[in-house]
Amino acid sequence: MTTLDGKALAQKVKERVRQEAAGLPRRPGLAMVLVGEDPASHVYVRGKSRDCEQCGIYGETYDLPENTTQTQLLALVEELNGREDIDGIIVELPLPAHLDERQVLEAVAPDKDVDCFHPFNAGKLFVGEKGFLPCTPAGIMELLEEYHIDPAGKRAVVVGRSNIVGKPVAMLLLMKDATVTICHSRTEGLAEICRQADILVAAVGKRGVLTADMVKEGAVVIDVAMNRDEDGKLCGDLDHATTAEKAAYLSPVPGGVGPMTRAVLMENTLFAAKKRQNLL
Ligand code: NAP
Repeated sequence: MTTLDGKALAQKVKERVRQEAAGLPRRPGLAMVLVGEDPASHVYVRGKSRDCEQCGIYGETYDLPENTTQTQLLALVEELNGREDIDGIIVELPLPAHLDERQVLEAVAPDKDVDCFHPFNAGKLFVGEKGFLPCTPAGIMELLEEYHIDPAGKRAVVVGRSNIVGKPVAMLLLMKDATVTICHSRTEGLAEICRQADILVAAVGKRGVLTADMVKEGAVVIDVAMNRDEDGKLCGDLDHATTAEKAAYLSPVPGGVGPMTRAVLMENTLFAAKKRQNLL
């Protein structure tokens, strides 16, 4: 079994971004907006700030209180949309329940939407036009490419249909000529469908739904999930010890898709900066 080392590839990607960013007339800028006290979100944003430093990207963090109103948040997004030195804007999800997530994401200027959450950019992805790619799905595709895994003609099964992971990764696999099945909580015969997968993408976010006996011998398994086990340790959807006995390739948790997601965010910020400086 080969481990798909996302940590190592992410370092390579970030080094490439650093070199390119250093050659731009103006360094790229990324604004990260946090609302409330979600501890995981704070950890992610700290990680993204470190990535910015490593890549020579100007990172600016907004740490807004839990009681921030929709109007205040939209006003900040509007201000960032107009800033010349800011190329990318991310609003960390989940937002507190009283805020309208969709409206906020749609307020981000599409040319600064480095998370690729705006319907305009999601639509471009759907029709295959060049633009931002969503970070986690694009990170998965880069990981496959690094290990010379060509999805063409393969049967890919994606378990999960979120707008952030499941749907877009299915679309990217389809664009690479895989035959794609998307499964979800209402899927009947999940085990049987998974067993047909040459490439299995696990994006459920719950342990126990997927087990090693649902993995085809020699499959490529991408475990996207970030769950916590009984001891509070980060783990994926699958049990990796038993899955490793079946899979030919497996992305670890941590150290697989997570670091790649962050690396693509840096690539997207560089892409936005180049576009906004008329270099593309
Ligand atoms: P989500 O929005 O909660 O989606 C989970 C999906 O799993 C849903 O489509 C759901 O189906 C499906 N599901 C739930 N129970 C199921 C079952 N019993 N059988 C089959 N499908 C089932 O989650 P997400 O945002 O896509 O994230 C998924 C996981 O990836 C989470 O652990 C998250 O933390 C992780 N993640 C990691 C990264 C990274 O950088 N590594 C980035 C993003 C997310 P329904 O649609 O029918 O409800």
